[in-house]
Amino acid sequence: MKKVIFDPDFFIISEQELYDDDKRDKFIIHLEDGLKAVANYDFISVYWNDEFDNFLFSGPYLLDNKNQYWFNYVIPKLCVLHGRYLPPKNITSIEPKENLGGCINSPPLNYGYSEEIYDFFLTLLHTLIDRQEDVFLCLGLANANSKKEMLSTCSCHDYTLKTTLIHTHNDWLFHINIEDVYWPLSHSEKEMVKFELALHLFAKKELNNYGKEGFLYSYEFKKRFFKAVLKESTQRRELLFGISKRLLLNQKEASSDTGLKDEPVRGKPGTRRFRITIENRVQYSYGSDGSICFLDYFSKGEHDDGL
Ligand SMILES: [Zn+2]
Repeated sequence: MKKVIFDPDFFIISEQELYDDDKRDKFIIHLEDGLKAVANYDFISVYWNDEFDNFLFSGPYLLDNKNQYWFNYVIPKLCVLHGRYLPPKNITSIEPKENLGGCINSPPLNYGYSEEIYDFFLTLLHTLIDRQEDVFLCLGLANANSKKEMLSTCSCHDYTLKTTLIHTHNDWLFHINIEDVYWPLSHSEKEMVKFELALHLFAKKELNNYGKEGFLYSYEFKKRFFKAVLKESTQRRELLFGISKRLLLNQKEASSDTGLKDEPVRGKPGTRRFRITIENRVQYSYGSDGSICFLDYFSKGEHDDGL
C-alpha cells in the first residue's frame, strides 16, 4: 500500500490569509479535495502521529497569537474534514525517532509556520530515511509550484529519501491504474457510479478531455451492457478509451473518427455502434433528450448483430 505524509502547510493557514476571503477559501478547498482523494483511494494510507495532531488541534502553534476566528471557524472545519476523510483504518502511526535530528530537502519546502513544526516535520522525514521508505507528500498551497520529486538527505545516513510530490488531488491520477482501481465489481448502483468515475478520470488523464470541459452527453447503462462490462478483464483500457472518446465527440466527429467508426446498426433502427477494438463493439441509442443509452458490449467471439 502506498503511504502518504502531509506537508504541515497543507493544514496550516497564516493569520493574514485567514482574513483574506479568497485565500481562505482556496485553503479550505485544497484541504478538502486533498483529503477526499486520500480517503477515496483504497490503495493509499497515511502516516500520522499524535504529535502532529497536537500541533494541528492545540491552536497556539498555528498562529503567533491565539485567535478566536481560528477556533471558531478553521478548527471545527479541520476536525470535520479530518474525521470524515482520514478514517483510522487508513492511518498508520509513525513516531519520529527522537535521536534523529533534521535533514536537508531539495527543493526546500516553503513554510510560514513555526520552526518547531518544521523541525518536527524534518524529524519525520529523517525517520523515513532511517527506514529507507519512500513516500508521497501532499503539499500545501505554499509549495504548489514545487517539482515532481523532493530528495531528502542527512549527514548520518547514506540513503536519499525520494518523496513523490502531490500538488493537488488531480496528481494522484498519474499514480493509479484507473482500470484496476475503478473497475466495477458488481452491478450495484455504487459500482455503476464507480465506473462513471473511471470514465471521467480516464478522459481527463488519458485524453485531456480533448480540450473540452467534459463529456458532451448525459448517459446511462442498460443492465446487459453493464453485465458485459463486468466480465471484461483484458480490454479494460480499450473500453474506457472508446467510451470516453465517444462521449467527448459529437456525432459527426464520432462518425468520421477512424478508430471509433461510429455507424448505424443495420436492421436495428435507432441503434448505433462504435469500435473498441477490431473485434469489440459497443451498441447504443439516443434518448429523446439527446442523451446516450449504452445497450450492449460485444467482446471477442460474441455475436454483434449487423456486422
Ligand atoms: Zn541521518
